[in-house]
Amino acid sequence: MKRHRNVKIVATLGPASSTYEVIRALVETGADVFRLNMSHGAHDEIRARHAIIRKVEEDLDTPIGILADLQGPKLRVGTFANGEEELVEGASFRLDLDEAEGDATRVRLPHKEIFDALEPGASLLVNDGKIRLKVRDCGADYADCEVVVGGTISNRKGVNVPDVVLPLAALSEKDRKDLEFVCELGVDWLALSFVQRAADVEEARELCQGRAAILSKIEKPAAVKAFDEILAASDGIMVARGDLGVELPVQNVPPIQKRLVRRCRAAAKPVIVATQMLESMIESPMPTRAEVSDVATAIYEGADAIMLSAESAAGQYPIQAVATMDNVAHEVETDSTYRDIIESSRKVAHNSVADGIVAAAREIAETTNVKAICCFSQSGTTASLVARERPRVPILALTSIRGTARRLCLTWGTNCVVTGEVDRFKMAVVAAANCARAQGLATADDLIVVTAGVPFNTPGTTNILRVAPCDERLIFSADNE
Ligand code: PGA
Ligand code: MN
Repeated sequence: MKRHRNVKIVATLGPASSTYEVIRALVETGADVFRLNMSHGAHDEIRARHAIIRKVEEDLDTPIGILADLQGPKLRVGTFANGEEELVEGASFRLDLDEAEGDATRVRLPHKEIFDALEPGASLLVNDGKIRLKVRDCGADYADCEVVVGGTISNRKGVNVPDVVLPLAALSEKDRKDLEFVCELGVDWLALSFVQRAADVEEARELCQGRAAILSKIEKPAAVKAFDEILAASDGIMVARGDLGVELPVQNVPPIQKRLVRRCRAAAKPVIVATQMLESMIESPMPTRAEVSDVATAIYEGADAIMLSAESAAGQYPIQAVATMDNVAHEVETDSTYRDIIESSRKVAHNSVADGIVAAAREIAETTNVKAICCFSQSGTTASLVARERPRVPILALTSIRGTARRLCLTWGTNCVVTGEVDRFKMAVVAAANCARAQGLATADDLIVVTAGVPFNTPGTTNILRVAPCDERLIFSADNE
């Protein structure tokens, strides 16, 4: 679907957005990728939403990306006899493996491995960091803590342990079931929560067997430390600012966001900036100025995608939230400062023929008035390389593989079209010209750049660039000269 912006919008689906009408309106307003959050929603609900997305995709005749987000090894306390308790600063509070319901002095933490890894002095954060405990003394099945910051603790609240690399499997039993379920359903991206090391990504990739691309959520200090290896092992990244801001001091989040976004661009892998982008729009049709500024900042930094969580999943104004992101994106991307920032943060890569071709395509677009860069990309790699250049003109990615088109919905500036297989370059140019016109990116009087690889249908062979007229007759007459 033709957009008037390059940054992509990811919208999380939930109770507020599970009908055909709402999902279709979200796409028409600007959502490019939908997130199915496996932490919420039964398999039946996920299946129903998935089916609606694919129906909307067919009805609107435009590829739509689906990202399934696995819950990951999220720690949770057990339950309380009274449902909740008030922890006061300075009090003692014990976490243990005892199955009895909790009270004001103790509660179960049903993860044996954690007790093995804890050491006196470690911090435990409960309920999004609202409650802070410090370990005083611990053993194989308990940790005696001091309440450093008090608050209300209630059934199954989440626990973060930022100081410790947890000896936890990357995927819980639930994650493995969910992974198999969504891979069978057919999703384009699989997001992994609480990734700690590259091996976590490799483990998921093994189970995934190529059925989805893998996106690592960076939300733990260990992942920030091991970021280069995690990036190398992943197909995409999410700056998951919610848990990241619990596990690290919140003021650390903006510099990490900036650094990660730049590294992902340099690696030509898509990066999503996520969480609380338009938080107040859960309840209000108008965002705060600070939220608008936050969305704008992510776009100025050159993120591939920005994400809505509860705003679109459970809020009262899901469509307005997408519209707000769309409007902010349009405004930012037409500002000359945006271009200055994007140009100055471009890294020059000269590793492969494809790197040279995409840089040339971008330069041609800067020095002439070509209207689009059209690239034939079976695996999507060449399209991602073109996107890394952040060219001034639209990118049209042509592929015969539907899954590639859907995955590229997350990639900056990329319009994706599924074509039939082409086996000769001239036919490729004709197909690109027809698609560019059909997508409204160029008219018959315009020029386009076309890149492809010969022999066709062999991934990783991009080796041709041509500046071509967008008029089929001119393509043929030029070739007959
Ligand atoms: P979540 O991940 O919404 O699944 O927690 C995003 C984040 O932590 O920011
Ligand atoms: Mn998270």
